Amino acid sequence: MKLITLPLPLPSTTAAATTLLSPKPQLLRFKFKPQSSLQTTINPPKSPFPPNPKSPVIIIGGGLAGLAAATHLNSQNTPFLLLEASDAVGGRVRTDVVDGFLLDRGFQIFITAYPEAQKLLDYQSLDLHKFYSGARIFYGGSFHTVADPLRDFWNSVKSLANPIGSIPDKLLIGLTRFRVLTKSDEEIFSSGDEVSTMELLRGIGFSDSIIARFFQPFFGGVFFDKELETTSRLFNFIFKCLALGDNTLPSNGIGAIPQQLAAKLPSDSIVLNSRVASIDYSGDESSSPSVRLESGEVLRSELGVIVAVEQPEADKLLAGRISAPVRTKPARSTVCLYFTADRANIPVSDPVLFLNGSGKGIVNNMFFATNVAPSYGPPDKALVSVSLVGGFEDVTDDDLTTEVVHELSGWFGGSMVGSWRHLRTYRIKFAQPNQCPPLDSKRNPRVGSGVYVCGDHWTTATFDGALASGKRAAEALLRDSALNRVV
Ligand SMILES: Cc1cc2nc3c(=O)[nH]c(=O)nc-3n(C[C@H](O)[C@H](O)[C@H](O)COP(=O)(O)OP(=O)(O)OC[C@H]3O[C@@H](n4cnc5c(N)ncnc54)[C@H](O)[C@@H]3O)c2cc1C
Repeated sequence: MKLITLPLPLPSTTAAATTLLSPKPQLLRFKFKPQSSLQTTINPPKSPFPPNPKSPVIIIGGGLAGLAAATHLNSQNTPFLLLEASDAVGGRVRTDVVDGFLLDRGFQIFITAYPEAQKLLDYQSLDLHKFYSGARIFYGGSFHTVADPLRDFWNSVKSLANPIGSIPDKLLIGLTRFRVLTKSDEEIFSSGDEVSTMELLRGIGFSDSIIARFFQPFFGGVFFDKELETTSRLFNFIFKCLALGDNTLPSNGIGAIPQQLAAKLPSDSIVLNSRVASIDYSGDESSSPSVRLESGEVLRSELGVIVAVEQPEADKLLAGRISAPVRTKPARSTVCLYFTADRANIPVSDPVLFLNGSGKGIVNNMFFATNVAPSYGPPDKALVSVSLVGGFEDVTDDDLTTEVVHELSGWFGGSMVGSWRHLRTYRIKFAQPNQCPPLDSKRNPRVGSGVYVCGDHWTTATFDGALASGKRAAEALLRDSALNRVV
């Protein structure tokens, strides 16, 4: 079998040799070129770079975790090749442009206080637009505002008397905030008193009414888990981030976040439309695994392979190689429906999140995306985003749309909601891994000789968790390769 080298523009002098073993030898030339549009596409093979015998670490998956791993390797002048199965980077964090609207693939918010994101992202160029710090809750046939006392004092005072919770509940929110703010993230994620979020809230003393009317729709929408079985560690972390930062959307859609990371990586280091079919191990500690693409090519790296794919795919690629925790609970799913309306034909102009606190119906939360970031739609049009928690596999898209329109007609009036036009429905079966206790957010990324794992299933199911785990995997790989050089 003839060895064919992969032509890459590698700046590093420390790179190890990676070779492409192909059943039908051919010189592959890849060109990654970030586009000005939100969709990045692969160009036909025409590389300006000469074949280079030195090659990268292989990263499988171009979501936030893979991109963070790549960013760290790049900062250490270590070449890499990132293989992404789909037609663009971003993984679960992508935005489609449809009829002039920016449709995020599911309701997503970027919290500015995420610590790893603060280190990696340029917030200014993301042009972040803020949500109102609070929410409007549909309960008992009308809306009630829950406001953040530090950012909207008067509304928070007014909200003390509303039926969303008792006055002690609202004081407990302040105390909970104080409690999480006095803890470091380290302490939060290693706390010995880990329980489910529901148990935590009950233990703090919150009433059933505030749990059902505020916490279940709000955090149920964040975790896609209305029963609030998700670990209290994640609740505490998100609660802290919400206290310290703003909920935002980038003006170019949530997909602008991975696009920004990708744009800072060397061109030609990311190859799209390349699905890895398997990771092949020699079983020999001294040699790194190789990666076989669905197309048949085999890539080998001397430094190692970073597996940055979502949990179900990682389970397949790493089958038999890792002792995965037994998962008895299913992953989290969501459905997001988008509608368009005339901007004059929506009930509010403020960037507020609406929550369903009624305990009835299928809508969990909704908002007018163009009220948060006007760039999410053409100038005269509003974009309406509606989220459901769960998979709704047995219900057709048409029936879901009918049901949502019917339900929101009860919120805003039938003549208004009836005029909205359905744009698209996203069904996201694997939205997040199940994050019930126990949660080990610091799992060792090294799972075998030369194989490192990252992604939200290896840590916490947040943008920040994915970013931090990608960096940890790259650090572990670099540490091991430095040690190997010494020994
Ligand atoms: C609808 C929705 C809303 C969310 N809202 C928020 C939010 O508001 N705030 C927040 O912090 N987090 C949110 N999250 C969670 C957050 O988006 C994820 O935790 C994070 O993006 C996971 O990143 P990842 O890199 O681990 O995985 P992914 O984004 O899934 O990336 C994995 C990548 O690997 C690729 N891949 C898979 N298999 C292969 C293969 N065999 N070969 C090559 N490539 C492969 C995939 O195509 C994908 O690009 C949300 C998630 C969803 C789905």
